[in-house]
This record gives sequence, structure tokens and C-alpha cells, in this order.
Amino acid sequence: MRQSFSLGHVFGIEVRVHATWLLAFAFVTWGLANGYFRFIAPRQGLGFPLLLGALSAVLLFASVLVHEFSHSLVARALGMRVRDITLFIFGGVSNIGGEAISARNEFLISIVGPLTSLALASVFWLAAQSIGGTTVVDLLFGSARGLRAMTPLGAVLNYLASINLLLGLFNLIPAFPLDGGRVFRSILWAASHRFDRATHIAALVGQGFGFLMIGLGLVRLVLGDPAGGVWTIFIGWFLSQAAGAARRDREVDDSLQGRGTPHPAPAA
Ligand SMILES: [Zn+2]
Repeated sequence: MRQSFSLGHVFGIEVRVHATWLLAFAFVTWGLANGYFRFIAPRQGLGFPLLLGALSAVLLFASVLVHEFSHSLVARALGMRVRDITLFIFGGVSNIGGEAISARNEFLISIVGPLTSLALASVFWLAAQSIGGTTVVDLLFGSARGLRAMTPLGAVLNYLASINLLLGLFNLIPAFPLDGGRVFRSILWAASHRFDRATHIAALVGQGFGFLMIGLGLVRLVLGDPAGGVWTIFIGWFLSQAAGAARRDREVDDSLQGRGTPHPAPAA
């Protein structure tokens, strides 16, 4: 990706940050500080909630990087060339040279990402429990009183457990180019032995899902949730574009483009 800068190398893989990621970082920090962390520390002005929001945003994107590294390390172990991992406005992307050479490899490279996010969710949930934090269930159905009972550290850990759970589940949706869509494609590919046909079907589902998200975003807009609505529309548009491109270019060798795995990190 152009307009990105390097943070250095981890396991021999370059980690890059695209300029648009700064927008995502600001958006997540502000959204958390002004919402979730306002409940945790209601009488402390906006400074402390902003600090907790920024810390959570950094750890969210660190979680996205761990997810990306799981894809990249499995791909490399299977003999593929990994160019870099880049964080951008919708999450992270692993730039892996070319397509997987077999359905089995595609399955393994794709499924490890959501599983890693679910594992991270468990780790953060256990950490929150160990310091007596409110459970994720309490948060989902919780009251403001339940939120206020949490310590700031417990609140950060609970947020990370919830967001990683969401990332893992969201990426399991069988809509190409999400990980679940790639898993779906690998299963179709294995069953039919036809890569192009499998890509076509998975990308069609992906395009449909993208349009569904755009519709959902419009509903959120109408219901008076402008930030959530615009964000959902953006992710839906991004997914439908990527799925449409995959459908059109499926015969083209995309080794120059690389194999991106976008991660629409749902905002707070
Ligand atoms: Zn992934």
C-alpha cells in the first residue's frame, strides 16, 4: 500500500501502518472515551477516559496484528512469500504473494485468523476474571451500574475480550474476502476441484453480504446513529468492492496484487 510507513520487522515480516489507520485510531479512541469509558469514570472529565480509550485502541490494533501474523506465519510455513502486514482504516491486511496452491493450504491460512482472535478473546476474558472484572455477558446485557462497578483495567480487558470475540465471529461469516469467505471457498474448491467456480460463488455471497451491511448502515443512520451508520456503510462498500473485484479478476494471476485479508475491525 502506498502512503504507508514501516514500524520495523517482526519474525522477519515488515509491519507497516497506512496513513488512513490514524483515522481509525482516532475514531476508536474517541468513540470509547466518549461512550464506554465515560460510564467507567463518569466524574473524571474526559482526560482519563481518553487515556483508557487510546490504550484500548493500541491493544485492539495489536490484537489485529497478532491475527494477521497468524495468517502470515502459517502461509510462510506452507511455502508462500509474505511481503508485509499493513494496518489501515478497516483493520489489517497480510500481503502474501499469490494464491494458495491448494484448497487445504487456503483453508489452513484462512481459518487460523478467526481462531487466533477467539483465543485472544479467551485470554483477555480470563485476565478480566482474574482481577474480578465484570463478565462479557454482564456487559452485553449489563446496566450502567454494572459498568461503574468495574475497575479501569477490568474495563479495558473486558473491551478487548469483547472486540476480539466480535473480530473472530465476524471473520467467520462466509462472505469473501472475509476469512470465513476464504474458508467457504476452500471447501467449495476441494469439493468441486474448480478454483474459479469456488471464487465466483464465495465472492457472490461476499457481494451480497456487503450490500446487506450497506443496508444495515442506512437503517442505523435513519435510527439516529450517524457514526455507526457511516462506519457500517463504509465496511459494506469496501467488502462489496473487494468481492466484486475478486469475481471479475478471478482468472488473472494476482501475484502482483498479493493476497489481502481485510479486517474490518468493528468500531466500539
Ligand atoms: Zn483474518
